[in-house]
Amino acid sequence: MANQRTFSIIKPDATKRNLTGAIIKKFEDGGLRVVASKRIQMTREKAEGFYAVHSERPFFGELCDFMISEPVVVQVLDGENAVAKNREIMGATNPADADEGTIRKEFALSIGENSVHGSDSLENAKIEIEFFFNDAEIVG
Ligand code: ADP
Ligand code: MG
Repeated sequence: MANQRTFSIIKPDATKRNLTGAIIKKFEDGGLRVVASKRIQMTREKAEGFYAVHSERPFFGELCDFMISEPVVVQVLDGENAVAKNREIMGATNPADADEGTIRKEFALSIGENSVHGSDSLENAKIEIEFFFNDAEIVG
């Protein structure tokens, strides 16, 4: 399997509850390395741009309000099969459906406030990484 990079966000519900380190530990224990990381306050424009694919969904407004409600931590994660591995470590979108031991099972509050974002494909990972990071900020 190939080495990959994927994009991750530790969402406002998690930063607010001081869970940044606990979530990063899940990534590291799962074999992923943090090769870029920054804590930012997302603007509404940035949140709407990032989630543009969901703009027609009924929860879009609520999702953007949530993503700018507190700081987030954006990261690039590197490792074998990193895109799928990260999704496995995160667990299902709805914490009620997430497997034991996953981030969302342990920490998520609801289907909306679900602690982490992770790219869903290698193609989207590249787009999302470039949306938040320049090359000099990624140090493997
Ligand atoms: P994932 O984050 O697992 O890739 P999606 O891409 O389907 O999930 O949705 C993006 C984000 O939108 C979710 O992580 C969650 O924060 C929010 N979301 C998804 N479905 C709902 C819903 N039914 N109600 C409220 N928020 C939702
Ligand atoms: Mg998604």
